[in-house]
Amino acid sequence: MTAVRRRISLFTMKKMLSSKKEVLIAFALIAVTVGSGLLMQVLLQIREMRASQREAAAVVSMALDEIHSAFQEVRDVQDAAATRMAALPQRKQDRLEDLQLDLLMIVSADSPLPEGYVPELDTVVGDYVMDVRCASVCWQMMQDCRNSGHGLPMICSAYRTQEYQQFLFDNKVYDVLWEETNDRDKARELAARVVALPGTSEHQSGLAADIMDEVYPYLNEWQEHTDAQKWLMEHCTEYGFILRYPPGTSEITGIIYEPWHYRYVGEKFAKEIANRGITLEEYAAWRRGR
Ligand SMILES: [Zn+2]
Repeated sequence: MTAVRRRISLFTMKKMLSSKKEVLIAFALIAVTVGSGLLMQVLLQIREMRASQREAAAVVSMALDEIHSAFQEVRDVQDAAATRMAALPQRKQDRLEDLQLDLLMIVSADSPLPEGYVPELDTVVGDYVMDVRCASVCWQMMQDCRNSGHGLPMICSAYRTQEYQQFLFDNKVYDVLWEETNDRDKARELAARVVALPGTSEHQSGLAADIMDEVYPYLNEWQEHTDAQKWLMEHCTEYGFILRYPPGTSEITGIIYEPWHYRYVGEKFAKEIANRGITLEEYAAWRRGR
């Protein structure tokens, strides 16, 4: 059937085209038409290829951007870490200074502890506890005194709770009412001269201890003549303690001479206070004000 059709169409064309020249022109036109169709296809393919190349280039560019920003993020993190590292020594120093200044806290009638203040505690010996920063140091100081053969130091008061300080104060008021006056206000005023009001005793800070010599178990001025007190007064600063209420300073401290009450301030401050021969009040004021 195809061959017959072709013969018919050639016969038809021959009939339509009168000369050979016209036949050649017709074939040339057909060739040009078919050729331009192929050329169009090639051009379209080239266009598609270019389009997909552009797409690929765009994808690569986006990927490169992401890699670049990822590297930038890593660099930012590294820079921030380096800045933090550089600042670390100073921050550590500041923190140390804060902790040390905390050791210089004044607890007195004029400067009561914040309500609810409870230090982190550790055992000194038996039921006696102190601030964790000085409990074992206090024990070591007493042991070293004992081992040196100079006296028999014995702790008789360390950290006190608010409730216990209240109990001690109430007891003192009762004693005064019994022995000295019937006036309750007067009794409270007199009692406050001997026993600190709750919140105003250094014992509530956990940084103070009363230590006496076993051979003279009384808290009065004669305590200073015992071997234990002589040794402790000479060596306490090596352990970071000071004799908190020295003779002749009650005008400043508000407390009578107590040759048994030791206060922890840390070795550095204890030595500076002892070398200057001043009270904690004077030293803390100078230190905070400088
Ligand atoms: Zn005391």
